[in-house]
Amino acid sequence: MNKIKILGYEIMDIDYKKLFQEIECLLQKKRFFYFVTLNPEIVVVAREAQELADYIKKAQMIFADGIGIVLGSKLLTGKAPQKITGIDLVEKLLHKQKYSFYLVGAKPHVMEKAAQKIKEKYPGSELKGYHHGYYDLKGEQAIIKDIKKTRPDFILVGLGFPNQDMFIRKLIKTLNQGIAIGIGGSLDIISGTKKRAPFLLRKIGVEWLYRAFKEPKRILRWYFLQSYVWLILKEWFKKLKITFYPQR
Ligand code: UDP
Repeated sequence: MNKIKILGYEIMDIDYKKLFQEIECLLQKKRFFYFVTLNPEIVVVAREAQELADYIKKAQMIFADGIGIVLGSKLLTGKAPQKITGIDLVEKLLHKQKYSFYLVGAKPHVMEKAAQKIKEKYPGSELKGYHHGYYDLKGEQAIIKDIKKTRPDFILVGLGFPNQDMFIRKLIKTLNQGIAIGIGGSLDIISGTKKRAPFLLRKIGVEWLYRAFKEPKRILRWYFLQSYVWLILKEWFKKLKITFYPQR
């Protein structure tokens, strides 16, 4: 498997055909795995949160969720990994119509709509269960118990970062089979509540710009960008052996 290492993370560089072959192998192992779709925000937060960084590093697969990771990799290694976003992965998995799923996340009416849409559009994809993402601790325990009981192939967790990652960390301790994936706001899109950026914008890597235009509040979440760019540049300078401090 081709992996590109940046900032301590091994990013998968894999096409979907190969990815689905790998997924088949993982499912046959009857063990629990999880995938992380990495973005600059997670990288920056994980810099200060060792447990989060360890959790990401132990993922079975780490994907480049967007242009930030792709460009960072290109600058540091000369290689650009295949971009694999949560929503792309989810749509492709559903499209296969051969796997079973448990969905967690989104507002109650959004979750209902998403489940309905999946049943209509992908009748071969079995929904073992689903639950919206606004629950208390007791509710969470009940959801995890239900996932354990229903044994889905995939547990798609759309609680946004870092909630979904905390949820998946609890699954690691409980489940002994299935693949969990944090899918951010994908359920909003599947339900039809929100629209994806047009294909062309996605192709050139500016989906984030479209999302900011649609939801200006998101711009507040760009606090991490400066730190991310700086992290990448520091690594790059290191590679070029440029240092800001006198060498001993
Ligand atoms: N969400 C949730 N429970 C929470 C907070 C958020 O289910 O306590 C859901 C929210 O409804 C949305 C998703 O998590 O569906 C987060 O979407 P966002 O677009 O912010 O995630 P991103 O893709 O940016 O990680």
